[in-house]
Amino acid sequence: MTVSVALAGCTGSIGRQTVEVVTADPDRFRIDAVSVGSSVADAVQVVATTGARVLAVADEAARSTARDMLNDAGMGHVEVVDDLAPVCSEVDVVVNAVVGFAGLDITVATLAAGRRLALANKESLIAAGPVVQPLRSTPGAELIPVDSEHSALHQCLRSGTPDAGEVERLILTASGGPFRGRTLDELAQVRREDALAHPTWAMGPKITVDSSTLMNKGLEVIEAHELFAVPYDRIDVVVHPQSVVHSMVEFTDASTIAQLSMPDMRLPIAYALAWPQRGGTPFGRIDWATVGSLTFEGPDRATFRCLDLAIAAGRMGGDAPAVLSAANEVAVEAFLDGRLGWAAISDVVSRVLDAHDVAVPGTVGDVIDADRRGRIAAAAVVAQMAA
Ligand code: NAD
Ligand code: MG
Repeated sequence: MTVSVALAGCTGSIGRQTVEVVTADPDRFRIDAVSVGSSVADAVQVVATTGARVLAVADEAARSTARDMLNDAGMGHVEVVDDLAPVCSEVDVVVNAVVGFAGLDITVATLAAGRRLALANKESLIAAGPVVQPLRSTPGAELIPVDSEHSALHQCLRSGTPDAGEVERLILTASGGPFRGRTLDELAQVRREDALAHPTWAMGPKITVDSSTLMNKGLEVIEAHELFAVPYDRIDVVVHPQSVVHSMVEFTDASTIAQLSMPDMRLPIAYALAWPQRGGTPFGRIDWATVGSLTFEGPDRATFRCLDLAIAAGRMGGDAPAVLSAANEVAVEAFLDGRLGWAAISDVVSRVLDAHDVAVPGTVGDVIDADRRGRIAAAAVVAQMAA
């Protein structure tokens, strides 16, 4: 029996790699439904490749374009809808590859429907932890991370729920991004294209900028805390520029288990689809004769302030991670648009977080509200800085 998949965010970096994993193993996996923000030409291509029967388009204007394109391409039978969430209950696995807070409804709908969530969209779990956690106990619901570090931790533990008594600490590896080893002075004039030139991973623009500021690693510390219920003082970050060791778990006897593979997101995607079995298609093996040295060093927390800002928000708990993540999205967008300097991203996030009084969100509405307040506060700081 094939595993049926719904793919939210089908045209992005993770979305396209998910299509590759599924089409490489058609006896095992098939894609029934996909969604896209607004890039409908690419999405129609994905529908043609995968044979999906539903296409959800978030952008209203793009939706009618999608209908026309499908008709023209002889795929008029494909249902075009505004939202993938109602379809989540009709498949075995939902891959959430949407970028940013927009991924929240898919995370919530999948777990509430008692389905497996293969989660790349870390922002939804980070922003809505208090609301998402209870949904994980819905019968049938399962959360398998796609983020490479968390997939590594899941593989080291071979379980989503580690025996807290045996786990001493989680060690997340970070590539260090394109600016590793630079000083703040050297980073004052960073341009958009410098931040988008990641040394080991080809990813969407938002996460690539987050990797350059180490905000991505900070968000991943929160993500690890939410996924594996390990306290913040037992989650470490180590910089490993080769991105071959994807993360490690240290146990109480000081034994450390690490997961190694070439940097290729198709492995964690296949792992999340095939769990509890393993994917059958190797996407690049380690050649031990040529891999060379694997190095490790501490992160430069003074230059890359976003790492500790995120961890501080995680420790504050409640809606602080939602506000942090929203402020970061606004600051990154402003940086990508040329309205904010790279070094000011951490200033925006820090000022928004400093002014925030933590409340505990009880509903999805509370999380949406916290996200909105974070965005408004961050936009005000960005505007002030530009003035
Ligand atoms: P991307 O920018 O390449 O793609 C984003 C996708 O989301 C696109 O298909 C876009 O159409 C879709 N989208 C945007 N708004 C939407 C909406 N409202 N409704 C439906 N779809 C919408 O991003 P990416 O790099 O693939 O990252 C996706 C997620 O995976 C992010 O949360 C990122 O942090 C995470 N992630 C990515 C990588 C990677 O290697 N790219 C690695 C780890 C984690
Ligand atoms: Mg990652």
